[in-house]
Amino acid sequence: MIRTITQTAKVGKPVHIRLDAFLRQQTELWNVALQERQDCYKKTGRSISYYEQQKSLTKIRKDPEFSQYHAQTQRSALRRIDEAFQAFFRRVKAGEKPGYPRLKSRHRGVHSFDVPDPRFNGNSIRIKGIGTIRFKELPEGKTTMVRIIKSALRVSIQFVVKKENTCTRKPHEPIGVDLGLKDRAILSSGMTLDAGRIDRRTLKRLQRKLSRAEKGSNSRRKKVMALRREWERVRIIEHDELHRATSEIMKSHNCIAVENLQIDNMVKNHNLARAIMEQQWGKFVDMLAYKAESAGGEVVRVAPHNTSTDCSVCGHRQKMPLHKRRFDCGGCGVSLDRDVNASRNILKQGYLLAGWEMGQESALPGAPENVRKDVMVNAGGNSGKTGQDAEQYVT
Ligand SMILES: [Zn+2]
Repeated sequence: MIRTITQTAKVGKPVHIRLDAFLRQQTELWNVALQERQDCYKKTGRSISYYEQQKSLTKIRKDPEFSQYHAQTQRSALRRIDEAFQAFFRRVKAGEKPGYPRLKSRHRGVHSFDVPDPRFNGNSIRIKGIGTIRFKELPEGKTTMVRIIKSALRVSIQFVVKKENTCTRKPHEPIGVDLGLKDRAILSSGMTLDAGRIDRRTLKRLQRKLSRAEKGSNSRRKKVMALRREWERVRIIEHDELHRATSEIMKSHNCIAVENLQIDNMVKNHNLARAIMEQQWGKFVDMLAYKAESAGGEVVRVAPHNTSTDCSVCGHRQKMPLHKRRFDCGGCGVSLDRDVNASRNILKQGYLLAGWEMGQESALPGAPENVRKDVMVNAGGNSGKTGQDAEQYVT
């Protein structure tokens, strides 16, 4: 299992300055490497490889400006551009919008670099030409790479860690999670997770200010920086909130069924609030997935069709306009909160899809005994239309 763990780094002022200088040089290298690739293609019609660009860098390294850094660290920019091109060709091949790698300006330059095969000295790492970067603690497992990131608010260190999964906990207590309308998640147990309302007013105000600033002016640049800082501040809060919410679920469940939201719909959707929420949802699910995996469980993504229109108890389908907050079943007469009903449908599909063993309490809370049995039989046989329908959504 490969994980990335990010920590805020502690660096002194001189290191800050040298870090800036190094990142400026990385930006320069990115641009030179991009130019070299373009020129080569124009002249010869073929692409230049990462290894060829490495050789060019060796020549540049005769300059002490460049040789003051470790070559391996310096190659970071070349690896990045190679990845950018590979991604570009992959998108072209897949018929997606390609997005050609672009030149970077001084103000929008490279802001991170990788150190492969890092050597640590306690809770710090020394990088030649830059200095010592301290951090809180070395994560468990083998760190194969660290990434140093300089953002608007801080310097962070990201560890890419290879870890054996030693968890022996068995999958237990499956649960369904539905995305509610007001940035919250509703669990099939009836529990509601408030994702915490994040105050975006300052962000909006700064955006407005920026849009009025004169292009190329100094004051505009300052406003850009202020916006970036605020942006990062909001992102950090969001991230912490997500950790809190996912940990809350993980306390008593490690098998989780969620809706598989389609990214394509998200792009088409012009409702900004919804788009933000769905983006958050993607991160939320990713986080759940790695936490579930390290706890011996799993996350199953199910088709989001009809989860709100079908009765989770008897399967009766009825119209459910958005303003209706309760599902009053016309078939069996059950009355459930709209979102709880949806999350139970999601859980049901999760059972069918993953073949989770049904514990006595875990089986569809609130459902009559005969319905539980019914679901259990379906889950065991792993047949039935729903199962096949949903299969293509397993990831
Ligand atoms: Zn019903």
